[in-house]
Amino acid sequence: MRVNTLKRAAVAIALALPGAAIAAVVAAPAAHADGCYTWNRNLYQGRSGSDVRELQIRVAGWAGNRDIVELDGIFGPKTHAAVRRFQQAYGLRVDGIAGPETYAKLYELQDNDCTPRHFSYSELDDGCGRGGWSGGPLSASETRENALHTMWKLEAMRRSLGDEPLYVTSGFRSHACNNQVGGASDSQHLYGTSADVVSRTSSLCEVARDARNRGFSGIFGPGYPDHDDHVHVDSRRENNDDGASNSTSWSAPDCGIG
Ligand SMILES: [Zn+2]
Repeated sequence: MRVNTLKRAAVAIALALPGAAIAAVVAAPAAHADGCYTWNRNLYQGRSGSDVRELQIRVAGWAGNRDIVELDGIFGPKTHAAVRRFQQAYGLRVDGIAGPETYAKLYELQDNDCTPRHFSYSELDDGCGRGGWSGGPLSASETRENALHTMWKLEAMRRSLGDEPLYVTSGFRSHACNNQVGGASDSQHLYGTSADVVSRTSSLCEVARDARNRGFSGIFGPGYPDHDDHVHVDSRRENNDDGASNSTSWSAPDCGIG
């Protein structure tokens, strides 16, 4: 009973502290839930389920060079490697197991609407200023889900590039918006799977080079026509709704990316 009393005391202390401190004081068994999603078990190689898929969305930006973490709900070697890179990037114990410490970091990083802390739905929705997720080839909810996946990759890129802001100048575009800006007829922007990115602290080439490790299978930057003032990143390899093959396409000749 003494142990329980101490635990209760620890919880009471934790509740009196700001949010960031709670995870540190109450380390186990399960980190506190948030308004978005709560994991109820540890995840590691061999496990599968919708909770694995939720994890895969959030570590997709740690896929490694020219690779992707498929959102298949199966915790395989690539998910393991991505979890390890996530842990490394945030100074956690590196074991490839998603447990209380990893979850606490994810809860800290995500907002109640499931977007990562430094990006928002409003930043990624209709690039022509009208807002919303409709008017493209997919349902609004599918488009929004794709945008969420994109944002978690961007959050990883932001971390990788030194925790400085990244700015999305164009995200999802409806058909009308895409026509208005002269986008490609089957642009990934129509699906919510892409973003045009700029930074004040990293050069466009630094952004483009980093994107190669963030699960982005489409990268277009300096030296590619009309891409000298931003870097376009997308997830075309994971897009089964477009008319294109699921392959990697990179071009930023001025950055040595071909
Ligand atoms: Zn673009």
